[in-house]
Amino acid sequence: MFPNDEPEKWHRGQGLWSHVNSEDWGNWIWQLQNRITSIDQLEQYMELTPDEREGCLHANKKLALAITPYFFNLIDRENPDCPIRRQVIPLGGELRVMPNEILDPVGEEFSMTAPGIVHRYPDRVLFLVTDRCAAYCRYCTRSRMVSNAQDYNFHPDFEAGLQYIEEHGEVRDVLISGGDPLLLSDVKLEYLLKRLRGIPHVEFIRIGSRVPVFLPQRITPQFLKILKEQGPVWMSLHLNHPSECTGELFEACENLAFAGVPLGNQSVLLRGVNDSVEVMRSLVHRLLMMRVRPYYLYQCDLITGSAHLRADVATGIEIIRGLRGHTSGYAIPQFVIDAPQGGGKVPINPDYVKEVTESEIVIRNFRGEEYRYPRATPLPEKALDFLREGEGILT
Ligand SMILES: *Cc1c(COP(=O)(O)O)cnc(C)c1O
Repeated sequence: MFPNDEPEKWHRGQGLWSHVNSEDWGNWIWQLQNRITSIDQLEQYMELTPDEREGCLHANKKLALAITPYFFNLIDRENPDCPIRRQVIPLGGELRVMPNEILDPVGEEFSMTAPGIVHRYPDRVLFLVTDRCAAYCRYCTRSRMVSNAQDYNFHPDFEAGLQYIEEHGEVRDVLISGGDPLLLSDVKLEYLLKRLRGIPHVEFIRIGSRVPVFLPQRITPQFLKILKEQGPVWMSLHLNHPSECTGELFEACENLAFAGVPLGNQSVLLRGVNDSVEVMRSLVHRLLMMRVRPYYLYQCDLITGSAHLRADVATGIEIIRGLRGHTSGYAIPQFVIDAPQGGGKVPINPDYVKEVTESEIVIRNFRGEEYRYPRATPLPEKALDFLREGEGILT
């Protein structure tokens, strides 16, 4: 499907913005300042379908429209079904609310124990430090608060969040997210990381960010220096489609890895974007080439106005079945449903266990062939006697 799959050929360059000097183009602030944020701007560059026009006209009441010039260049403007386009250009479907869809699909508000802190699991917290992103994914699970289109009025209160973590000795893992934490200044990020580093019970710090994908220019030498000094800091990226694997992102990942940042990826299963084995296989192979370990594949949360992007759970299971055994184990993400109402992430797997009897387990391998493996049975008395006499280890 993607011949000549060599990272050197993934470079995209400036495309529509070839008139811009390369210094501006490579500057993340320039990319943010020149984002496409309105239907008028979009229509200067491409022809929208009627469905897209409907979506764009009303987008700002649900979740702001914003696309960095860098990411916009990855869109195939001739193809209304382009998988990159689907992720960032709204459709009319966003305005339709299905009966099972809600504004807080994974029940985060119920687990908010301090401003910006979602404490759902025993030993780790989610720390929301901003409500802004470089570009807005149309299926965002946090669209109720992100971009402030719905007047959520998010005010990051680092001190309250940090104090909560300091006071909760059971928190050994902090996941910094938002919005996108990498939109904070280096000064703020360094402060946050330093403070967390200084809390003795915090063992593990990770950042969830789509900035490397939307805005690889953000991965500057100064920022890398902070990560190196405050490390180990892990990072989870968010790629959904192999076309997002550009030379620019490859370089950003290489620099992050060289700064000591272990990289993972979280994808969301999206209809018409990555809901096939072929596309996912190509994506996970490219991720490994970029030193990124596929971590989770999420079933799309039941966020308001996302039905047109949601693939069936059975498709996700078939994708995992199509990968397991057929390609490197390192390439295979865990498929999960983040259970509604705060149930947390639940792994969903193809069934390889045909039967468990008293004496054995009957399993099927990736080819569908059946195998049997015995249950563990108590050791016979004779063996026990032998062990008692011989080694004395059981007495
Ligand atoms: C996803 C998530 C985490 C992290 O879960 P892992 O399975 O450890 O990656 C922590 N807190 C909340 C609220 C989450 O949604």
